[in-house]
Amino acid sequence: MELCDISATDLARMLRKREICSREITESVFRRIEEKEDIINAFIIETKDLALRCADLADKRFKTGKKVSPINGIPVAIKDNLCTKGITTTCGSRILENYVPPYNATVVDKVLKSGGVLVGKTNMDEFAMGSSCENSAFGPARNPVDPDRVPGGSSGGSAAAVAAGETVLAIGSDTGGSIRLPAAFCGVTGIKPTYGRVSRYGLVSYASSLDQVGAFGRSVEDCAMLLDVICGHDKRDSTSVDIRKPHFQGSIDRDIKGIRIGLPEEYFVEGLDDGVRTEVMNAVMTLEKNGAEIIEISLPYSKYAISVYYLVATAEASSNLARYDGVKYGIRSSNPFADSIGMYEETRSEGFGKEVKRRIMLGTYVLSAGYYDAYYLKAQKVRALIQEDFSRAFEKVDCMITPVSPCLPFRLGERMADPLHMYLVDVYTASLNLSGLPGMSINCGFVDGLPVGMQVIGKAFDEMTVLRVGDAYEKLAGDNRKGNRTGS
Ligand code: GLN
Repeated sequence: MELCDISATDLARMLRKREICSREITESVFRRIEEKEDIINAFIIETKDLALRCADLADKRFKTGKKVSPINGIPVAIKDNLCTKGITTTCGSRILENYVPPYNATVVDKVLKSGGVLVGKTNMDEFAMGSSCENSAFGPARNPVDPDRVPGGSSGGSAAAVAAGETVLAIGSDTGGSIRLPAAFCGVTGIKPTYGRVSRYGLVSYASSLDQVGAFGRSVEDCAMLLDVICGHDKRDSTSVDIRKPHFQGSIDRDIKGIRIGLPEEYFVEGLDDGVRTEVMNAVMTLEKNGAEIIEISLPYSKYAISVYYLVATAEASSNLARYDGVKYGIRSSNPFADSIGMYEETRSEGFGKEVKRRIMLGTYVLSAGYYDAYYLKAQKVRALIQEDFSRAFEKVDCMITPVSPCLPFRLGERMADPLHMYLVDVYTASLNLSGLPGMSINCGFVDGLPVGMQVIGKAFDEMTVLRVGDAYEKLAGDNRKGNRTGS
């Protein structure tokens, strides 16, 4: 096995024992990038020189004998909607193709200060709008498990890079499922923390009341390791919450005896692929056999999650994206224009892709006078009902398990002609963003060689239980899960 294929947890152990050095891991990752990137297209920009500098610094830090962060010397890829000082941050869009931020996002600062090796900026759906990574202005990323299929979106590049060994850890963002879905499709692990757990400072906004930054890794423990680095209160993000920060990685308690796991009946209904259902239910049975108590629950308002999500998210997006006017950020059209309105029109027509334009129009419409009450306000009311559903159910259970996606990773191009069909992929994930809850995608098997993800949902700020259940499952399923990889 190459170094680039080993989990962050194991690599960190080997680094600490000085069996390997960060430069070796980093070189292994870049060899893999050279080998696979032409097909996978997981990166918008690679930062090899910076990575090697970070690696050498990390190696020096080990030599001092001082205590270092667990991610010291570990390669980390960053989604291209997080600002990186001096490195382009395109958000997958033409309109920002030349944008070089003068500052780092808080999470980027934290990764660098902890000794993380910045591998590059990962491919994504433009402005994080999409479920397949096909809306990137820089060409789609592909699923390393089967390159004819999508890696999921919008953080498709981050998930694909981890799966392909083009990085070890990655950071993504999740507004309606954008970490969990690609993690499920690529067979890696991904966590969306509670809204407010991780700073959004320097994250290019899509829908500010839903956006949250999170982590990808090869295991639950890998994600815990990265989460420990990136979470915490930040006074530069007023929605980040000043709450005790647990030490996630060190305190994962694997005993799941007596833990109450809820199965929301509405998340296992018609429309769910049979193979996905079977794999998720097998995982639930494994947990039950090992002492978990399985309880049927109901989240009746979740059936409105997609409708509410696409009203709230587009409304917020239409406002957030108003800043791209050809003056403050990014490109300005070189077409002739008569006045400033003409300049805005030319720049925005040229700079934004089809899906982004569709959402700006939808969002502007639902916020417009005369329609605001009927759409936006109503959606906010139903959002409150969806949240209440979760609060009520969490009186009876400690966490919940659902599928991440109703379907297996689909082929490139398969859903592009039908946006509604694409939106339906978020059916099990968007409700968590509307409620602010943490959720994690963990591989629970393969159907016809394609990965299936299960979603573990926790109470607000109880990522610990999510990690505990996920980690326990991973250890129990172990090689069985991997055995399915070949379809055998
Ligand atoms: N697929 C959803 C969308 O298209 C979610 C995206 C996300 O979480 N950023 O908006």
